[in-house]
Amino acid sequence: RPTLPEKIDYVFKVVVIGDSAVGKTQLLSRFTQNEFCYDSKSTIGVEFQTRTITLQGKLVKAQIWDTAGQERAVTSAYYRGALGAMVVYDITKRVSFDHVARWVEDLRAHADDSAVIMLVGNKADLAADKRAVTTEDAVEFAETHRLFFSEVSALSGGNVDAAFFRLLEEIFSRVV
Ligand code: GDP
Repeated sequence: RPTLPEKIDYVFKVVVIGDSAVGKTQLLSRFTQNEFCYDSKSTIGVEFQTRTITLQGKLVKAQIWDTAGQERAVTSAYYRGALGAMVVYDITKRVSFDHVARWVEDLRAHADDSAVIMLVGNKADLAADKRAVTTEDAVEFAETHRLFFSEVSALSGGNVDAAFFRLLEEIFSRVV
């Protein structure tokens, strides 16, 4: 794709966190490239991907960071400057939801207090026969911890754009 000159008004750093294998990398590639890659291996070395969107007539470059398979070694540098975060769990893996509280703690310890946080239950395409976390449990957690919440599917693409846009619009409204 040719690089066209763009006059970016804002750059928003967003970090994606959550247990390994919940689908963070696929969510990122779905949002930034509208792709799902069935045989993707961990993208070691890739730090972030971007997508530029228009919000209220302004060009906003979303710079979305991926832990790139280093979930156990996420450092404060990863969180630094993040205006928003997606905390992802897998709706078919209860333990990934049980760990969300820890990820939110980590985030609150290292990121700015004003960072917007969105809880995301991924793999909603498997809800019919493999669901292990009810929507009600997740909604309750999100309300208790004052997080935005959405169930999405990186595989089908369902709700992925909506979730990122919700997060980016909220950041926009706080920053601009
Ligand atoms: P990460 O370790 O959190 O970055 O997870 P990946 O993005 O590498 O995905 C882990 C596995 O889950 C891969 O086998 C993906 O193909 C699969 N996966 C990711 N998102 C979805 C989804 O929305 N639905 C389904 N069914 N599988 C998914």
